[in-house]
Amino acid sequence: MSVDFLYPEFEVVRNPNRCVNCRLCEKECSNEVHKFNPATKTWTTDDSKCVNCQRCSAVCPTRAIKIVKSDCAFRENANWSNQTIREIFKQAGSGGVLLSSMGAPTPLPVYWDKILVNASQVTNPSIDPLREPMETRVFLGKKPNRITRRPDGKIDVRLEPQIELTMPVMFSAMSYGSISYNAHAALAMAATELGIYYNTGEGGLHEDFYKYGPNTIVQVASGRFGVHENYLQAGAAIEIKMGQGAKPGVGGHLPGAKIVGDVAKTRMIPEGSDAISPAPHHDVYSIEDLRQLVFSLKEATEYQKPIIVKVAAVHNIAAIASGIARSGADIIAIDGYRGGTGAAPTRIRDNVGIPIELALAAVDQRLRDEGIRNDVSLVVSGSIRSASDVVKAVALGADACGIATSALIALGCRLCRSCQLGKCNWGIATQRPELVKRLDPNVGARRLVNLMNAWRREIKEMMGGMGINSIEALRGNRMMLRGLGLTEKELEILGVSHAGE
Ligand code: SF4
Ligand code: SF4
Repeated sequence: MSVDFLYPEFEVVRNPNRCVNCRLCEKECSNEVHKFNPATKTWTTDDSKCVNCQRCSAVCPTRAIKIVKSDCAFRENANWSNQTIREIFKQAGSGGVLLSSMGAPTPLPVYWDKILVNASQVTNPSIDPLREPMETRVFLGKKPNRITRRPDGKIDVRLEPQIELTMPVMFSAMSYGSISYNAHAALAMAATELGIYYNTGEGGLHEDFYKYGPNTIVQVASGRFGVHENYLQAGAAIEIKMGQGAKPGVGGHLPGAKIVGDVAKTRMIPEGSDAISPAPHHDVYSIEDLRQLVFSLKEATEYQKPIIVKVAAVHNIAAIASGIARSGADIIAIDGYRGGTGAAPTRIRDNVGIPIELALAAVDQRLRDEGIRNDVSLVVSGSIRSASDVVKAVALGADACGIATSALIALGCRLCRSCQLGKCNWGIATQRPELVKRLDPNVGARRLVNLMNAWRREIKEMMGGMGINSIEALRGNRMMLRGLGLTEKELEILGVSHAGE
């Protein structure tokens, strides 16, 4: 036996009493785990190829298959976990950088789960969202610090360009290439129906999706893939991507195997060539450079569109955000440590950056202290999992949240964290036509709309419970939050009191 043999992480368990040999599992598994021998009517499975995407167990008409985590493990060792040993084996065999996808699965604190929300009791009565109006609309962009009058004495109502969302949630950047055409179509349709936005990511905008422009944020990343004048004009806002929570400080790499057909055309690069986005923008080495890029994009779009600058949450994020606010950007998008990705070096994903909760609180406070909070809106992302995460984020100072992993889960993703392989059995993170067609964009859009409508109701209920009837009144209202199980330092950074205080 080869020295690098490892017992598979997952086992495919087939119940022979239920299996009717329909071979659907064999057909549906892009990883070729199941093999049926028609002559002997027997099954073999190559468990080592299984990524636990749950497709076969979901499509099996008789519920004959389940995937279980293998209990064949190395001896317990608090220092050398099974995962660590497996990774060393892999690297000793391949000599390569470990790649993963989706957000960091590490057990570091999720601060949303250590923050509790207030509710009115005797005084300041709660509001019943079924009977009373609740405002969930938000406008993102620069706001004036005070009311001013024009020379003729009338109030100056002119505003810098804004984007309007019917609720404080939008779909975060995911490129066409990292996700499929049908996944993009579902996001675009849902954003349009909901009155929110989806984001092209760095892959350009497919010509079929120009019609969704009013609900599209177009991204300009370091590789400048698919960026041209019509593209900039098509979106409602333009996002400059300086960083991403899942891989701060590194660029992107979409392998040539995924640069096929329309993906290549949309990115404006040859088929089969690797799409490598450099780690930095080669024209941005200072806030002054960033300012030039912000104003070049404003100029190109006649000052009609807000410019977003997206950064990863890193150690000095408050100072970085202060610089971005002064660069002329209208919106800052901050993506936290747990942010998802289609592919990232595992070591970077799991060890670089800081949680979005701490980054958000620090940035909001810094911008307030410097008197420039109204110069920018803040959009945060990086594992926003529920309506309560949104409510807590807004109370910590966010104007809106971006969701990507939650949106993909709504589309059917099982978080197998194998997107980088390009064989997503749910038709999401793949360009293989036979897999892409498994995702019906109309069904996907309906599920996204359902999810957002459900969250909107929950947001209203939580706000009503606090006696608050608008997102605007909740934003930065940290009095509505209490921490539990946190250190003094963590509470200080979050700017919230301990539960019981
Ligand atoms: S990779 Fe997915 S479809 Fe294939 S055996 Fe594993 S769970 Fe089933
Ligand atoms: S998108 Fe597909 S490949 Fe990626 S984690 Fe989800 S199910 Fe797995």
